[in-house]
Amino acid sequence: MIIFGTSNKMKTTGSGQFYCPNCRTTRAYERKQAKRYFSLYFIPLIPMGDAGEFVQCQTCHLTYRPEVLDVKPPVPKNDLAGLINSAKSRLEGGYPIEYFVRDLNAAGLEREAAWNIVNVAVGTERRTCPNCDLSYARAVSVCRECDLPVSE
Ligand SMILES: [Zn+2]
Ligand SMILES: [Zn+2]
Repeated sequence: MIIFGTSNKMKTTGSGQFYCPNCRTTRAYERKQAKRYFSLYFIPLIPMGDAGEFVQCQTCHLTYRPEVLDVKPPVPKNDLAGLINSAKSRLEGGYPIEYFVRDLNAAGLEREAAWNIVNVAVGTERRTCPNCDLSYARAVSVCRECDLPVSE
């Protein structure tokens, strides 16, 4: 008896690191393309066209649509302590205050609490970039986005 059928054959088209929504952390992935083959006795014979591309986590082996590679990993909550500890050095090192507040927000801190952290770390005096309006700690002299001197 001759059995005809189709089967999927995987071809790896890429690999790298991605944020796996299942593992909730950065993992290695392989990007694969499934080609459907017309098979005889289940031996792949003729490619029947693309059956689709997908991304597979090499740790949990779940598969995702390729768009998963665009997903940005959230800042893990346990980074909050690290962020708070580094507030003074980062802000005085030229990191924009608005960005830092956003990072604290993303790490799970409410806006008001985030601004309090900033005020405690570097005081309430600000330098503002005349070009992009980002604000900086008093110790900062140049906007890192625009490369322009910031004013009081
Ligand atoms: Zn995974
Ligand atoms: Zn600027």
